Amino acid sequence: MKIKSAEIVISAVKMEQYPEDEKPEIAFAGRSNVGKSSLINLLVNRKKLARTSSSPGKTQTINFYDINDQFRIVDLPGYGYAKVSKSSKEAWGKMMDMYLNNRKNLLDVIQLVDIRHAPTQQDRHMYSWIKHFGFNGIVIATKLDKINRGQREKHLNIIRKELQMTSEDILLPVSVETREGKEEIWELVNEIFKV
Ligand code: GDP
Repeated sequence: MKIKSAEIVISAVKMEQYPEDEKPEIAFAGRSNVGKSSLINLLVNRKKLARTSSSPGKTQTINFYDINDQFRIVDLPGYGYAKVSKSSKEAWGKMMDMYLNNRKNLLDVIQLVDIRHAPTQQDRHMYSWIKHFGFNGIVIATKLDKINRGQREKHLNIIRKELQMTSEDILLPVSVETREGKEEIWELVNEIFKV
């Protein structure tokens, strides 16, 4: 994919703020610190489009990025910080539900997990939620460079098993350091937009 432009449209907290046109969207979900912002920046060849290293106190927003004036990448709020209050967790749930349930533009939600660790309970919930909404259930395993080549298969199998992925569900490893996996992700995204 040739990236001619990549711009933030809005960091939304409520539905009225979502962009109103009909551009298709693809969203990324995952635990805070999983590497979501880094991956978005890698995909669109920008250093700082998405803000990396989100802090626990950071306002939770749904960030809409316009790509080539053609489609949007949507950065969903991260989850999984132990210290967040019950009310913030509820706000997160409402915000996610509002977007995933009602958004006509949304073609698919891709879940990110860290390749080094077994998926957490929240990862499992997120994944079954994504499937429940009828999305494809594509998973990207981030930080591929952090494990030895010989360990890859083992880690990927754990992710598949823990998330109860079927043999048809796509699991793609990626590294922002080595860029391995980037082209495969674009191929997938292109397929999703074709449907
Ligand atoms: P987010 O909270 O999900 O948006 O995560 P970030 O993109 O801010 O990444 C969290 C941390 O992981 C940062 O320090 C990144 O530099 C690091 N990181 C993200 N992706 C990779 C990767 O593929 N390889 C390595 N080695 N570090 C990564």
